[in-house]
Amino acid sequence: MPYLFTPPEPVSVAIAGESIRFPVHRIYCVGRNYAEHVREMGNNPVEEPPVFFSKPADAIVANGVDIPYASRTKNLHYEIELVVALGKPGRSIATAQALEHVYGYAVGNDYTRRDLQAMAKEAGRPWDVAKGFDHSAAITAIHPASRVGHLERGRIWLNVNGVNRQEADLSDMIWNVPAVIAELSTFFELCAGDLIYMGTPAGVGPVKVGDVVTGGVDGLDILENRIV
Ligand code: MN
Repeated sequence: MPYLFTPPEPVSVAIAGESIRFPVHRIYCVGRNYAEHVREMGNNPVEEPPVFFSKPADAIVANGVDIPYASRTKNLHYEIELVVALGKPGRSIATAQALEHVYGYAVGNDYTRRDLQAMAKEAGRPWDVAKGFDHSAAITAIHPASRVGHLERGRIWLNVNGVNRQEADLSDMIWNVPAVIAELSTFFELCAGDLIYMGTPAGVGPVKVGDVVTGGVDGLDILENRIV
């Protein structure tokens, strides 16, 4: 079929140890999924349950690739997160079957224009410009669950220029992976190729040009990007 102009190349993510790549369909994100982070943002984890938002698929930045400091912000923040990569579609997925939809796991960084997010919250406006911008979704290669298993616990951490800023355990998540897949699938028909950023622990903070941001989750790769 002829197109008006050449469509963009599909967005994809490396798969550890494989020559084939994981094609990205959508990027969903969970907000407020670690109680200590909910508190540091001035909210109550009991009164403010996790929330969903999204980023465009082409916000993806590969491991090791430089990230331009985002425009229109004076407070660009890192957020280290476990990322779930879905390999099977579904809607209204039962919690007990949810892990069957997981292809694998990666480490991600949900870059956030924190000043614009605060203004949006204050005004009761959407988060899009604070979250869904270019180069805002850093990610490592995906490790298939067939090799690393399903990640329920393990250290999640982030350093800026070698100084530790975030440190928690995956078991601290308010909604675990099956709960998030089940809940999200009641709002959206999930597809193979969807990525879910699972939310960040406490310790979020700013980056500046020249910073090297590293982070990881036990059993997965170390994500490293320089802010330029
Ligand atoms: Mn986040």
